[in-house]
Amino acid sequence: IKAVRLDKYIAQAAGVTRSQAKDLIKHRRVKVSEQIVTDPACKTHVSDIVSLDDETLKGAGNYYLALHKPDGFICSTQDEIHPSALNLIKDIPPQDLHFAGRLDVDTTGLVLISNDGQWTHRVTSPKRLCAKVYRVWLAENISESALERLRNGLILKSDVKKTLSCHVAKVSERELLMTLYEGRYHQVKRMIGAVENRVVRLHREKVGDIDVSGLAEGEWRYLSDEEIAAFE
Ligand code: URA
Repeated sequence: IKAVRLDKYIAQAAGVTRSQAKDLIKHRRVKVSEQIVTDPACKTHVSDIVSLDDETLKGAGNYYLALHKPDGFICSTQDEIHPSALNLIKDIPPQDLHFAGRLDVDTTGLVLISNDGQWTHRVTSPKRLCAKVYRVWLAENISESALERLRNGLILKSDVKKTLSCHVAKVSERELLMTLYEGRYHQVKRMIGAVENRVVRLHREKVGDIDVSGLAEGEWRYLSDEEIAAFE
């Protein structure tokens, strides 16, 4: 689990400079798990309870993760049949975590996970038009006219508004790369269904600039500061 220096942790959580954080620590105003700590270099874990003047610092223990979801896991808490993808995240109290956009049980690929509700809200906000890249394997060959309809947007059954225009690159007769800027329920599968075809496999490669390619199935990593800040 990620550890940071205590002075860095305090600087971020209390909104002070690094040298101010060092002073606070040296003046015995900081506790980690109820113990006064005077070493600014002390390694602090995101799950530690850190307080300044006996007030617990909030926002410091935020987690931002990227997970490569395997087939068979769900993006919600456990049901009777399928395990939650949160079971794959060890070391972090799962009750705090939630998904910034879901994948279907049989879809693989990138899901972003955090306990920062404002952040996950921003990631999934339709206003943000965040690009999501899907690799789509089809049951039938795809025609040029079907590709055009997908690109231009179409009305999905039981929806009122047309889907937003999107990028669709044909990799082969039965494989596409689709970039969507919204996230409706089962959107890719329903769009492909609307052009009389069927998805046989679906994999999300990217959300914004975050790419799943460095992760094996079931593996996760912490997002970098830049990756987190891209959704500020
Ligand atoms: N579209 C779908 O149909 N399913 C997913 O899991 C993601 C996008």
